[in-house]
Amino acid sequence: MRLLVLGGGESGTGAALLAVQKGWEVKLSEYCKLQDKYKEALLNKSIAFEEGGHTEAWIQEADLIIKSPGISEKAPVMQWVAAANIAWEDEIEFAARYSKGKVIAITGSNGKTTTTLLTYHLLQKAGLNVGLGGNVGQSWAMQLCESDKDYWVLELSSFQLDGLRKCPIHIGILCNISPDHLDRYAYELSNYAKAKWRITSTQSAADYLILNADDDISQGLLKEQGTKAQVISFSLENEQALGAYLNNEKLIIKTNHKDELTMTIHELALQGKHNAANSMAAAIAARVLEIRKESVRESLADFKGAPHRLEFVATVHGIDFINDSKATNVNSTWWALESAQKPVV
Ligand code: ADP
Repeated sequence: MRLLVLGGGESGTGAALLAVQKGWEVKLSEYCKLQDKYKEALLNKSIAFEEGGHTEAWIQEADLIIKSPGISEKAPVMQWVAAANIAWEDEIEFAARYSKGKVIAITGSNGKTTTTLLTYHLLQKAGLNVGLGGNVGQSWAMQLCESDKDYWVLELSSFQLDGLRKCPIHIGILCNISPDHLDRYAYELSNYAKAKWRITSTQSAADYLILNADDDISQGLLKEQGTKAQVISFSLENEQALGAYLNNEKLIIKTNHKDELTMTIHELALQGKHNAANSMAAAIAARVLEIRKESVRESLADFKGAPHRLEFVATVHGIDFINDSKATNVNSTWWALESAQKPVV
């Protein structure tokens, strides 16, 4: 069977390598220039590739197209795919064909990477056989070339969710929704929000959806679109019957009616209000997977954080310098300012 990968970045190259390993006859086509490391990986496995444009004949002769999430469904090359009536899927879908692991997927406008790394840390420290991928680090497909894991913690962007069709998501975390990347969604917030809601589109009653109770857009989607999954919420503002919330400076995590985990926000490795929310979401996922309370508490306290995200640099003459260069939209910057304990310049 012939497979053509469109886009030769981290996910496209990963998909090509995985496909060759699984017996597909593979070609890869990149509109721009391939990075040297990806070119080398393709040459190494004798995968035919082109760069600087797509050849329509390559599309016509393929049985399946794997597209990188960066390529919009409306891109001219996808119109060729539609005209030739060739089946296509995204890298995440393709990778899912070859994994038996349970997926914990994290999305949102802000806090995805932090929550993903923290969730991975919680699972790994508890001794689970877990991998980390998606939009952070190595692509999922690339890693599946090495080995499958029992659990995969995946950061999924709205672009990756656009292509979600069958990939089962055991635990979905939607951190929050605020305007971002609207150019790809006809400048409509509701289109972007619906793309985020796709995180629950493949879920069943045996799965979990972790939602931000303080986020009006997520709550609106829950009412409007619904979900088959069991919903567990977290809130900085209100007590939750089941879920996580703040009571003054105490964090309470309750994923069943039998017992709860409590700790103070001062014990959390990640400081700041929005990080308390990220910590709650990750902790709910860990407790749903029945990781012991002591283990969750310890890992929330000793997590090292993600570089460039509210990262403490140094104190000079009593002034704390914080690197928050990964704040990529107005909302995240606002939150960063909000969470500061001292006057801010
Ligand atoms: P993403 O992967 O969604 O871009 P990151 O975890 O990389 O998010 O964090 C980027 C920036 O967003 C951080 O530096 C911080 O300023 C801000 N941020 C992190 N978590 C949240 C949150 N839950 N709500 C709002 N802003 C956040």
